[in-house]
Amino acid sequence: MKVLFVSAEVAPYSKAGGLADVAGSLPQAMASYAETIQVLTPLYGQIDVAQYHIKPTDVKGEILLGDEVIPYRIHQTSDPNSAVQIKFVSCDRFFQRNGIYTESNGEGFTDNNLRYFFFQLVALDLILSGKLQADLLHCNDHHTGLLPALILAHHLNVKTVFTIHNFLYHGHFSKAEAALLPKSILPYLSTTQWDNYSALLEGIDHSRIVTTVSPGYARELLEGVDIDSESHARIVAARGKFTGIVNGIDTNYWSPGIDPLIPHHFSSNDLHGKEQNKLALLSKTGLDPDLQAPLFGSISRLVENKGFPLIVELLDDFVELGAKFIFLGSGSPEIANQLRKASEKHPRHIAFDDRFNEPLAHLIEAGSDMFLMPSRFEPCGLNQLYSLRYGTIPVVNRTGGLGDTVEDWSQNSGTGFVFSPYDIKELRKAMIRAIKVYHLKPDWFNLMRRAMLKDFSWDQSAKQYFMLYTS
Ligand code: ADP
Repeated sequence: MKVLFVSAEVAPYSKAGGLADVAGSLPQAMASYAETIQVLTPLYGQIDVAQYHIKPTDVKGEILLGDEVIPYRIHQTSDPNSAVQIKFVSCDRFFQRNGIYTESNGEGFTDNNLRYFFFQLVALDLILSGKLQADLLHCNDHHTGLLPALILAHHLNVKTVFTIHNFLYHGHFSKAEAALLPKSILPYLSTTQWDNYSALLEGIDHSRIVTTVSPGYARELLEGVDIDSESHARIVAARGKFTGIVNGIDTNYWSPGIDPLIPHHFSSNDLHGKEQNKLALLSKTGLDPDLQAPLFGSISRLVENKGFPLIVELLDDFVELGAKFIFLGSGSPEIANQLRKASEKHPRHIAFDDRFNEPLAHLIEAGSDMFLMPSRFEPCGLNQLYSLRYGTIPVVNRTGGLGDTVEDWSQNSGTGFVFSPYDIKELRKAMIRAIKVYHLKPDWFNLMRRAMLKDFSWDQSAKQYFMLYTS
């Protein structure tokens, strides 16, 4: 079976969120099942080609977008550690800029729709011309949502799987933009109530199989939780081909026993390094070096649905109770402002870093006591999985993948603190419970060990994807 996995982000080359982590690790985990698995992704200007040994190949072509002919060239990494061939689409006009989707001020590029039309048309061109062989195309999120319809429009014998990593982002495009696509696809597209098109819904309509990144999120989508009625109707129409598979994590990269990005290694048998990492984290972020006080970590895009409206309301009260907080994240200027103000008000108790900072993310996982992730909705969520592995106890809302992966604490069971419904009162109660157990040392250590022993490696999930591929 020849599989082509198509994604707008692939870690470690380019990353804005969890999609990159999945695209970086799922194909690797699938490598032993498929005959060949190749990944196709844009060559963004910010990717360090020297570091990853990315070189141009002889494969090139031209794409007709409207009246314009735009050339592309395929580059490839010869990374000896990779079991998977990663192919990059290079095109100066669309990808040679800093930033994946946005300008440095956070504004989305105005030509994002055209950029991903182009990217998908390159994938199609590679298959049509035989420059790349694929029996199965695994598409991810709206950036690749038109590929299933393009495959149908060209009567290609290529099966399509479409994975929804986040239903919030539709990739809406106008009729004028649609007119730039090959004419053969137009009969397949359905307008939305806003008289435009949704690349996400097109992916759902036309792929052979639709997956989302946890069974809980699949259930919520099918029930129509937080979704407009028209989108819901299109999901329900796809019910028979809809399934949820929880994401795994790259256990080589996120592993407290070997992680090169943390100063002190530790394991469920020997937790000493955890406390030393906490000290390193407190000192790096300028917080009081007080090991007794509970420390909550957070690593997240700064968007409303990650629960920040609840968190910022509670900070003063919890600082009063002696808790400490470290926030790492960028995104909404408004949320960044609220976190910055809180850290200026409580400089010894709250730290905020608004960069994308991979080493600090690892140190937060290694050095925090608890991980705060009270998302309003969460398709899967990866940081709670990294947290479990680093013995950093997640405090989460019972939604989507969070509900599937974190079990509420009781004396002899559970791996975190789970609350429901999504409101400030319930979050407060969960945080207070977490702090109480934190001070009961044997219970807390047992909880940490239980969390660390949970297996969220890709093995199980890759097997499930393989069964879907073969079906
Ligand atoms: P989402 O995909 O909704 O952003 P996930 O929890 O699935 O949420 O994945 C987010 C990924 O992005 C995680 O690997 C997380 O560590 C990483 N991440 C988010 N913000 C930052 C940041 N500022 N610095 C480093 N890593 C970050």
